[in-house]
Amino acid sequence: MNAPSYRIAVIPGDGIGVDVSRAALAVAEAASRRTGGFRLDCQYLEAGAGYFAETGHDMAPGAEDAAAAADAIFLGAIGLPSVRHADGTEISPHLRLRDRLGLYAGVRPVKAYPNAPQRLADPRAAEIDLVILRESTEGLFHAAAANGPSHVETDAEVQDILRITRRTTERLCDFAFRLAEKRRARGGRGQVTCVDKANVFRSMAFFRKIFDERQGAFADVPVSYNYVDAQALDLIRRPWDFDVLVMENMFGDILSDLAGGLVGGMGMAACAEIGDDHALFQPAHGSAPDIMGQDKANPLAAILSAALMLDYLADRTGGHGPLAEAAAVIEAAVTRGFAENRLRPMEFGGDMGTEAVTREVIALIDAGG
Ligand code: ATP
Repeated sequence: MNAPSYRIAVIPGDGIGVDVSRAALAVAEAASRRTGGFRLDCQYLEAGAGYFAETGHDMAPGAEDAAAAADAIFLGAIGLPSVRHADGTEISPHLRLRDRLGLYAGVRPVKAYPNAPQRLADPRAAEIDLVILRESTEGLFHAAAANGPSHVETDAEVQDILRITRRTTERLCDFAFRLAEKRRARGGRGQVTCVDKANVFRSMAFFRKIFDERQGAFADVPVSYNYVDAQALDLIRRPWDFDVLVMENMFGDILSDLAGGLVGGMGMAACAEIGDDHALFQPAHGSAPDIMGQDKANPLAAILSAALMLDYLADRTGGHGPLAEAAAVIEAAVTRGFAENRLRPMEFGGDMGTEAVTREVIALIDAGG
């Protein structure tokens, strides 16, 4: 029987993006070998600051359409501070992809792994396991979007517009509730917190109104509410009490870094950007030019992003067992690797570079997680 094959558009990009995407796909292959039942058909696409410096284009001809046609996109990292457009902005075709493909749901899992750095002394910090769900196409970033939104700019005043639409917020909230249901089915808390500033802004009151409307369709999912400032406090005071936190773009931008900092560094921050018909997976970190080409990058953020990708493909194909299993196999290998002190990334003062960490994760997978 022929195993189904999934088309993955791989954009290694710049700097450590090249190394960590190679690591992530090697681990995904190992997980696929272990579980069987599917194949990944990778198409490598050129894009990024290095490509722009060579050619004057941020993506190779046809690459954007190829990415749009794939079952999923995997991206390493894009951008180099030394390469810029004439107006001073960095090369960022991935932001265009996010807009074009409608990738509104930014998923940032924040999980404490044993022996990985924890910033909080409270022993309950070992239980941190939450997801920041950041709306990624509108909110305050609407003002910075590529599509030229209206704004006020004079030499006396500048205004940026925060945009909340019913259409996107409904889909985002549905995504949050479905994610909570899935996490509950896997033994998690399965609850959603609406993070907003509904006491001050009409746009945020609208966000909360839509959250409440959509909750009607997911009555089994417990909900709570937190103003964003209180949420920042609670992420330090009691992050172990939260599960899925859904919020506007700018709030998510800030709180996801804060939450990520609780459980390690950039090298652990996995990320998915999901829309109705497309999804892009990438580590949340950048191209880290300070350590590129030195085998120092921690590939785990990219590896955990690959697990998110397999899980997404499982969802898209009606819970296709081997894909979900492969995602779980990767998660389990990372958890066990840390627990047994077999994963010691240099990022955390350990002795293992990108390749050594990757080899060890693959060895853990081959040996049964
Ligand atoms: P961007 O704006 O493109 O997201 P950035 O300017 O925030 O990028 P990063 O490239 O993410 O910066 O790097 C920030 C710091 O974190 C750097 O010192 C970098 O070396 C470190 N860093 C980032 N990713 C990793 C990683 N995977 N492993 C180890 N260190 C990392």
